[in-house]
Amino acid sequence: MRDENCIFCKIANGEIPSRTIYEDNDFRVILDLNPATKGHALILPKNHYKNLYELDDSVASKVMPLAKKMANHMCERLGCDGFNIIQNNNEVAGQTVFHFHTHLIPRYNNDNQTLVMKPTKMTDEELDKVRDIIVKG
Ligand code: 5GP
Ligand code: ZN
Repeated sequence: MRDENCIFCKIANGEIPSRTIYEDNDFRVILDLNPATKGHALILPKNHYKNLYELDDSVASKVMPLAKKMANHMCERLGCDGFNIIQNNNEVAGQTVFHFHTHLIPRYNNDNQTLVMKPTKMTDEELDKVRDIIVKG
């Protein structure tokens, strides 16, 4: 369940040192080397899954409870004012390391960070069409 060429497999399994802030049988949570904000961390499963599409349901079901636990704990310790959870899949969506991971990003008033989406406009008809494609095919 590991990929020999994957750096996050090596980090998650302790072969490469990292600033670990939490570990259990399934996951290691580490500080990001290039943090978007103070405390930016990554949830890494110990097994290799390239992205969300490949993630085992049993692992997936544990990610959000862990993110919630980490967010509460980190905010208490770091005094953050908000929190972003981000998870990128494939290059077009910003994934650069192809071992599933979830970003935990503490936010602070005036942290000068921008992780915002750019809203666009769609007509009611266009929105209906998208819904129908997703629901009906
Ligand atoms: P992605 O863009 O794939 O969603 O996120 C990859 C993240 O991993 C980036 O935020 C990047 O800074 C971080 N990263 C890449 N290589 C390493 C590493 O070797 N150690 C740590 N701690 N973080 C890394
Ligand atoms: Zn891996």
